[in-house]
Amino acid sequence: MSRAAGDRRAGLPGVDRLLARPEVRELAERWAHRAIVHAARAELERARRRVADGAPPPADEELARAVRARLERLDRPGPRRVVNATGVVVHTNLGRAPLAPAAAEHVARVAACYSDLEFDLGSGRRGSRQAHVAPWLELLFPDHGVLAVNNNAAALLLALNTLALGRGVAISRGELVEIGGSFRVPEILERSGARLVEVGTTNRTHPDDYARVCGRDVALLLKVWPSNYRIVGFTRQVGVRELAPIAADHGLPLVVDQGCGRLYRDAPGPDSEPSVEQLLADGADLVCFSGDKLLGGPQAGILVGRRELVARCARNPLARALRCDKLTLAALSWTCRAWLVPDPGAQGPPVARMLAASPEQLETRAVRLADALLALGNRVRAAVIDGEGRVGGGAAPEQALPTRLVALGVDGLDEQELARRLRGHEPPVVARVEAGRVLLDPRTLLEGEDEIVVSAVRRIVAD
Ligand SMILES: *Cc1c(COP(=O)(O)O)cnc(C)c1O
Repeated sequence: MSRAAGDRRAGLPGVDRLLARPEVRELAERWAHRAIVHAARAELERARRRVADGAPPPADEELARAVRARLERLDRPGPRRVVNATGVVVHTNLGRAPLAPAAAEHVARVAACYSDLEFDLGSGRRGSRQAHVAPWLELLFPDHGVLAVNNNAAALLLALNTLALGRGVAISRGELVEIGGSFRVPEILERSGARLVEVGTTNRTHPDDYARVCGRDVALLLKVWPSNYRIVGFTRQVGVRELAPIAADHGLPLVVDQGCGRLYRDAPGPDSEPSVEQLLADGADLVCFSGDKLLGGPQAGILVGRRELVARCARNPLARALRCDKLTLAALSWTCRAWLVPDPGAQGPPVARMLAASPEQLETRAVRLADALLALGNRVRAAVIDGEGRVGGGAAPEQALPTRLVALGVDGLDEQELARRLRGHEPPVVARVEAGRVLLDPRTLLEGEDEIVVSAVRRIVAD
């Protein structure tokens, strides 16, 4: 039996009959024909499956409404802006680092106009895209070579492919980690064309373990910051300061994938993590890190280290495939400058400000938010309580950011339903649900977002 005959038997209309419905015909004012046809086919397919499962066939009108709803759900560009009330600062599911408004304006201008992306205005000749970030990064890391690529995974891939193609990379078994769903150190290493040389054991690795493998066609020693993973108890890892002389004795570069942490010793951030500056001072030859996790800028991968090694990475044909686009470079250029020219009028990267927020500031903001919520009526409960936020982005998983939270309740709604309705607001508000409560952390609310939270709750109470 043909599909059309099967559909007729099941009581389902053909595509043409569905397209002829007035609710669907109206869609042609806004949507391309092919989009409408595709949505109609998809809804028919869904109906077919439901009928096969024993459901009664939907009326044509119901199907037509479903076609319209399917297109309406698509009718806004993504990703959508959300309000992050979770207290997780570099939230990997919520876009990691928000840019400062001035950085975003700079990006918007570069996006909408032509720019000197690869043009030297002085000579009128071709220029380099790295020129928009390298001078700033060199000021942040004097006497080192620097290179920006699309993200930190790309930076590590590029470093391994450049320095260890077809050869061994020695890494402690305790650092063969998975960071987030799709970043697995052994897999990236294999795809880079290097060969994995495992050192030590999962919980304990000693300096001698590295020294022993250095002869085995090993091209470099790699250290990976385990980020959101910790081995505790009977453990031993070899730090950069201990490892650097071993690498040097064998004439091998020491590469560190730091990923997250902080830029300088005194930069805002978790103090349990080494800074990039410290790693370089301790003898790392090449360090790579994320532009959003450490700088509070766009997602990018920054390679910093010995000039000759960085230059080899830059010459690798893969660097072309992994390069930053102009929007990333614009955001990164603005952000690097903000670290060096801290203009008190213009605000720096929001992430740095959030990490540096004092308990007193957070208390003041939590109290103000709770008061505004309580003023919405007697269905609303809002109490200021002690709590913890997180750096996020894989940094310092065991280190909490002490904070003051607003515990929110609305009579007649359980905590899951309340959180769901907050997410249903425009813009959606994402809160934490813990121990039967909806928790709002003022730390990650940007300027003006307290009011969005209040209006979201106002709508929920009015419904
Ligand atoms: C986050 C992280 C990465 C991946 O960085 P992306 O910018 O997401 O590509 C790699 N290594 C470490 C140690 C990280 O923390």
